Amino acid sequence: MGSDGIGSAPPRSRGAVLFSGGLDSMLACLVLREQGCDVRCIAFSSPFFSPAQARKSAAAIGADLEVVDFTEDILSLVEHPRHGFGGGLNPCIDCHGRMIMRAGEIVRGRGWDFVATGEVLNQRPMSQNRRSLEMVAKDCGVADILVRPLSAKLLPETDVERAGLVDRGRLLAIEGRSRREQMALARHFGLSDYPSSGGGCLLTEKLYSNKLALLRNAGRLRDLTAVRLLKFGRHFLLPGGAKAIVGRNVTENEAMRGMAENGGYLVIRPIGVPGPTTLLDGTATPDDVDVAARLCAGYSDNGDGLVNIRIFKGAELLEERPTQRLPREEARPWLL
Ligand code: SF4
Repeated sequence: MGSDGIGSAPPRSRGAVLFSGGLDSMLACLVLREQGCDVRCIAFSSPFFSPAQARKSAAAIGADLEVVDFTEDILSLVEHPRHGFGGGLNPCIDCHGRMIMRAGEIVRGRGWDFVATGEVLNQRPMSQNRRSLEMVAKDCGVADILVRPLSAKLLPETDVERAGLVDRGRLLAIEGRSRREQMALARHFGLSDYPSSGGGCLLTEKLYSNKLALLRNAGRLRDLTAVRLLKFGRHFLLPGGAKAIVGRNVTENEAMRGMAENGGYLVIRPIGVPGPTTLLDGTATPDDVDVAARLCAGYSDNGDGLVNIRIFKGAELLEERPTQRLPREEARPWLL
């Protein structure tokens, strides 16, 4: 395992740190390294969060990072959240537990000793209070090897600590939302430039969650193209029930066209004037196709006149039609 900062001395123990790339996960890693533990950072990727910040932060502290695909795990938890959601469609308690479980499988599979997290008692009112931390420990199935270095002294001693694989005496008793102690610790480790949190999670965003809820209710969470498209464009639920996605800029237009190719979408584009790529569910009714074409014209740059609109299915041009613009205010009630 790479950079542990302990020279050639044998490590006290080996383990994995759940690593979002935020300050707390960096500190958890550094606290364990300082006492001679050999740690590997583990980050998770899914359509809702990326390991980009984890990569940067791991490089900043010279830690090895392993990225684990978490797509199936998080989709199943959004479908059936045992402990419910936070403010959006974020099943945080279940998600934490599952991440620790996955890291635990890796640790046990490799004969390592512990899983650590950067959780801080009472830092987040819902997902990091004492009850939630206990629930996570119970659900993850690896409570015996779980260490939370930043708050360990406020939590029950674990088997790993009892066995001396991690020195509880050198773990911390940080609690609450103030970041003062973490900032002092960051100074102790010579960290000056660090993010306060990891990369962010779309599931905590209300608007994004509203759009995802539609897919969830339609049983389409496993349609990964549809899930990934939620990040792009303005989304309209048309009167006939189909969903139209209208690109907001050239970058989005191109990305959406690329993603639509295999997703069974109709692609609607203006010809001869700048305007948005618009995607429409392939099963849309003819009325919704008309509305989507007018919507596309309405967001195109052609004053109040007719706009030539082309409609494609994959690479095949289905038709070209002069189209009357739909005033944007008329479409506003359909905006998700
Ligand atoms: S914010 Fe997102 S990634 Fe983090 S625990 Fe909650 S659901 Fe999981």
